[in-house]
Amino acid sequence: MSWDIRLIHSLFCTEDSSKILSIRPSLMNGEDIIRWKFGSRGIYTVKTGYHVQRTLDREEQQDQSSINTSTQVRNGMLTKLWKINAIPKVKIFWWKILHNGLPVADNLSKRGCKIDTLCQICGEEIETIDHMLLQCRVTWEIWTMALSDISIHLNRSSTVYDLFSYILNTGAEDQKNILPLMLSWRIWKMRNKLLPLCSPKFCSCS
Ligand SMILES: [Zn+2]
Repeated sequence: MSWDIRLIHSLFCTEDSSKILSIRPSLMNGEDIIRWKFGSRGIYTVKTGYHVQRTLDREEQQDQSSINTSTQVRNGMLTKLWKINAIPKVKIFWWKILHNGLPVADNLSKRGCKIDTLCQICGEEIETIDHMLLQCRVTWEIWTMALSDISIHLNRSSTVYDLFSYILNTGAEDQKNILPLMLSWRIWKMRNKLLPLCSPKFCSCS
């Protein structure tokens, strides 16, 4: 007994077909039956249906609450960003970072640009904002050389949110504590000089 693979593919999408084909057909040539997988005997009961619905509701609430929490955290950071004693262009730059709005290769690719998404500095990983600013081994070396304190509090898996929290926790009203904001802006400028994103060589979407 085996599946009629051609028929399955003609009736279902690729994803469903592969799920169906992963099910082993009955060796005893038995009749197909409908089973309720959440009940011990495969039979649907209102009680098991209610429990499944409750579990799904709970999972949905948890997902929603984690989305709300991360939005709240980001909004809190944005409010504090505008109060920081930094020059406007650096604050605008960081506003873009906190909105994941910098045109790094990963973001451009997601918007339909046909580009090489690997980090153009190290060539080892996808160029996200986190990678370009912190996680790239080249830029991380710049951080540790320029601001040795940073490497005590952050590491190469830290994100831009970790960096921004670090700045807020050290006292963003003090000019010296906002040096990381300036340095990150410098890193971005340096990276753009190495690789102008508008060049036809880099981006073929226009
Ligand atoms: Zn890199």
